[in-house]
Amino acid sequence: MTNRDLENALSLIADVPDYPKPGILFKDITPLLADGPSFGVVVDALAQSIADLPEKIDALVAIESRGFILGGALCRALNIGFVTVRKPGKLPRDVHRKDYQLEYGFDALEMHKNLLSKDKTVVIVDDVLATGGTVLACQDLVEMSGARTAAHLFLLEISQLNGREAIQRAKPGIEIISLLRT
Ligand code: AMP
Repeated sequence: MTNRDLENALSLIADVPDYPKPGILFKDITPLLADGPSFGVVVDALAQSIADLPEKIDALVAIESRGFILGGALCRALNIGFVTVRKPGKLPRDVHRKDYQLEYGFDALEMHKNLLSKDKTVVIVDDVLATGGTVLACQDLVEMSGARTAAHLFLLEISQLNGREAIQRAKPGIEIISLLRT
């Protein structure tokens, strides 16, 4: 895989203005997912960035729902575990829960208890880093489980929303990796 292949694959991410509401530029990864060779190139690049981390990674923690698509493919490629983080009410057993603030209002995320423990190291993966609120909520869930996070991994980072700075402020020392920064 060359840098050119990766650039071509990432160029399939489509900008959708004013979705889901006026003023938001939505980054639509579905054209990239629909193109088999491009999806493969992107999964290979994300897998390589995980393999390059100094620690051994036991599992990926991924966020519903686009994080699941990338996370599932990556776990298969790396032969590591997959831990799902979901919207409230979707997981059937005891959960850790994190309420967090959105631009307007609140949301919450949940993760099953007992899937992770303090001897585990994880990477949190999602498609897009915007303000950082979602990945930081996920980070709190990982911390409730006692596990350690080696990195936050994204396909794409929207630089002007300063998610990177928000993560660095709240959780100094966690590596932040994006294949593309806009
Ligand atoms: P945030 O918590 O602000 O970093 O938002 C990240 C989450 O919301 C990720 O799960 C993204 O899939 C989604 N998201 C936020 N903003 C966008 C955007 N402009 N385009 C696509 N997805 C977005």
